[in-house]
Amino acid sequence: MSDCLFCKIIEGNIPSDKVYEDDDVYAFKDIHPKAPVHVLVIPKLHIATLSDCDDPALLGMLMDRVRMIADDVLTLEAGYRVVINVREGGGQEVFHLHIHILGGKKLPF
Ligand code: AMP
Ligand code: ZN
Repeated sequence: MSDCLFCKIIEGNIPSDKVYEDDDVYAFKDIHPKAPVHVLVIPKLHIATLSDCDDPALLGMLMDRVRMIADDVLTLEAGYRVVINVREGGGQEVFHLHIHILGGKKLPF
């Protein structure tokens, strides 16, 4: 989508600190990290928000990639938190579905 920040990051038109990429997803460091490790995992397909996605296979694929990136790429052996902010009430600011991986310290709830 032409006016979407995260689509532009996937296309390489806006720089990012990439940690992982395959045919389906792109993962990069959050520009304003809320924890020592803060990575965003996004589908390459533009989906504005979780509420817009009724594709169980795509959602399952995303969660599987999140697990693999957190455990195998970021090696967050002590554990981590996975967060999806949904629409304005959930604190979503960028309207391209993204999953936050937070770790690197013990996280307060
Ligand atoms: P959310 O509030 O769930 O929509 O989260 C959006 C996240 O995107 C925030 O944590 C921002 O810090 C992050 N962000 C915004 N612009 C960029 C960027 N250009 N590169 C990396 N992360 C970004
Ligand atoms: Zn997009």
